[in-house]
Amino acid sequence: MSVSDETGSARSVLVTGGNRGIGRAIAERFVAAGDRVATTYRSGDVPSGVLGVVADVRDSAAVDAAFTEIEEAHGPVEVVVANAGVTRDQLLMRMSDEDFDTVVDTNLAGSFRVARRASKSMIRARRGRIVLISSVVGLYGGPGQVNYSASKAGLVGMARSITRELGGRGITANVVAPGFIDTAMTQALPEKQQESYLAAIPAGRFGAVEDVASAVEFLASPGAAYISGAVIPVDGGLGMGH
Ligand code: NDP
Repeated sequence: MSVSDETGSARSVLVTGGNRGIGRAIAERFVAAGDRVATTYRSGDVPSGVLGVVADVRDSAAVDAAFTEIEEAHGPVEVVVANAGVTRDQLLMRMSDEDFDTVVDTNLAGSFRVARRASKSMIRARRGRIVLISSVVGLYGGPGQVNYSASKAGLVGMARSITRELGGRGITANVVAPGFIDTAMTQALPEKQQESYLAAIPAGRFGAVEDVASAVEFLASPGAAYISGAVIPVDGGLGMGH
């Protein structure tokens, strides 16, 4: 289904971290649907047809400047996907303050900065879709991932608070919780950990970036107008019971 809005015109979409991995697949999906797509990135390149703006989500001023540039080119952002994220895995007793702070500042506070800036024009337009990319680990937990898990669980409370605050203004806020998706982030995990995840996934396979893009595309579509504050797992059944 096209992500075009109720009036049938292409929407202004921003995906953070669209230069690689899951974010790149999401950005490409919106381009294929005919939307005006922008992405913030720090390195590499962006998919063809996507407006790339260099910005670090840990920097409020950079996020603000990126939105201003995107608004000038594509108009106010109507669909925002907070996807940028990092891991700094370490066992609890050895985890440094820096490892904890970096992950929370990027994954949780970064999503906050992006959602806050996006909300301004969405409130004015009385329309908007906010999608936060969390993880199965947010509610399932993961050894060595106290920082990452806490940052991703926080996104659930964030989406639900946004829903309560802005739900009456035509704005939805949802969480997509991918399981084990085949990207650079998961390829970096020790082989033993990859094997034990695979054994626990009812679908019997790791996910593809396109699996996540499909869920995001749906949440941004007219058909998802009445879905807000939801956590949509894309994990082959790994985290059932969330
Ligand atoms: P990658 O490591 O492949 O990509 C991470 C992306 O985040 C890159 O585009 C990167 O940009 C961007 N990014 C990281 N830090 C910052 C920052 N400070 N400012 C701006 N951009 C930043 O990860 P994935 O594609 O695998 O993951 C994407 C999202 O999905 C993340 O939030 C991740 O936690 C989540 N996720 C991934 C799963 C998986 O199995 N792969 C499972 C569950 C959730 P740059 O390259 O420029 O640094």
